[in-house]
Amino acid sequence: MKDIINKSLLEISKSLQMRQIKVREVVEACFDRIDQTEPKINALLCMDKESCLSRALEMDKSGPDPDKPLWGVPITVKDVFCTKEFPTTCGSKILENFQPCYEATLVEKLKNAGAVILGKNNMDEFAMGSSTENSAYKNSRNPWNLECVPGGSSGGSAASVAAGQCFASVGTDTGGSIRQPAAFCGITGLKPTYGRVSRFGLVAFGSSLDQAGPMTRTVADSALIMNVISGHDPKDSTSASRPVPDFLAALEKRQDLKGMRIGLPTQYWMEGLSPETLESCRNAVDAARDAGAVIVDVEMPHARFGIAAYYIIAMAEASSNLARYDGVKYGVRDKSSADLQEMYRKTRSRALGEEVQRRIMIGTYVLSAGYYDAYYKKAAQIRRLIQQDYLRVFESCDLVCAPVTPSPAFKIGEIIDDPLQMYLTDIFTTSLNLAGMPGMTIPVGLGRDTGLPVGVQLIAPAFEEALTLQAGQVMENALPGVGTPTGLG
Ligand code: GLN
Repeated sequence: MKDIINKSLLEISKSLQMRQIKVREVVEACFDRIDQTEPKINALLCMDKESCLSRALEMDKSGPDPDKPLWGVPITVKDVFCTKEFPTTCGSKILENFQPCYEATLVEKLKNAGAVILGKNNMDEFAMGSSTENSAYKNSRNPWNLECVPGGSSGGSAASVAAGQCFASVGTDTGGSIRQPAAFCGITGLKPTYGRVSRFGLVAFGSSLDQAGPMTRTVADSALIMNVISGHDPKDSTSASRPVPDFLAALEKRQDLKGMRIGLPTQYWMEGLSPETLESCRNAVDAARDAGAVIVDVEMPHARFGIAAYYIIAMAEASSNLARYDGVKYGVRDKSSADLQEMYRKTRSRALGEEVQRRIMIGTYVLSAGYYDAYYKKAAQIRRLIQQDYLRVFESCDLVCAPVTPSPAFKIGEIIDDPLQMYLTDIFTTSLNLAGMPGMTIPVGLGRDTGLPVGVQLIAPAFEEALTLQAGQVMENALPGVGTPTGLG
């Protein structure tokens, strides 16, 4: 089993295409690994072993299809995507047993490419959180240290991939939810440009910020998933009609970083970073320099307002998006109420978690007539200034490099009772979503003090994901990386 699950997605896909291995063997190896690791890490909300195995048998009978780049490859998806074969809870009790009658475009694309979807990953309720502790179902755990969070909101996805339960997962990132759990679990995670990947069938949190992307063990694996999921979708009017490059082919065009200018925003390389995070991120910059990159200092004067602007805009959009969960159209309904108003109130008070209720209230407040100008409008103005910071920075460099988080994974329970401190852990990730730019986490190495993974972020101009992937791969080859998780025995 170890031989199979330790392979990268690209390697396993090649072996499957060449019939060196059967789909059934690969799917069985993943479920064996799930049996072994799931009681420790709680990464999945549901799975369907039987139908995956019977699908695998059918596929083995019909044989590989070279036009399907994910043929026979087991993957998992965050429970934020609507799926016809699995319930879709979004980590919330209000959607308990909700069975969508349609599928997210992204899931359809993965299936059309031949992927075998094993199950759905745990997440913070409605993707609100940074630790997966806001899931209404269970806490996921970090495969590197079971006392630590795997990050969030795509924590289940990151833990699954790091533990070898699957060869890739797909998450969403509204303010860091792909990049931060990827950093905490020592894997690679890419948030594409806003509009690059269809949001159709993705349960909305902050619609102007949400974007789906790959979470994998290698950069090349992310490139392959990007080839499958990117592109215009007539069902999502915000998806971009730009041509999609072959991301995998782009990787072959670059073996070093000669001529590439990488900017370090002085505002992001600051005190407040834990010493081991700073040290690891500096090693990443040294690796880039050794590979030929020119390192320059750049200024992002409005970066420090990013967190405040993000939380106002995300909560405002969430308060509107979540109005649809009223007990009438989806999932759970309180049956004890005497009238409609009471039914709304009781359903929402009982079936939505504390953090979600907090955000709906703050979001409603910042949009209310008396406070709109003071909060929402100001946040929208700051958003524009942050976008302009990025545009200016990209006049003098090709990529930006920054830490992902101030420190490695924290302990379960450590800051869950202090929402503001939890929000502050997103300090390096949210500005990207406000600006719509693509960014990728790659693992750098293990922190000297904690022995936990540390990641670094590579940020590119809009629609230049290929650049982050290229630089990411060169750096991945040059850096020590993290190896296999130490927390699973
Ligand atoms: N941690 C951030 C939040 O709680 C980001 C979440 C996300 O990207 N979905 O809003």
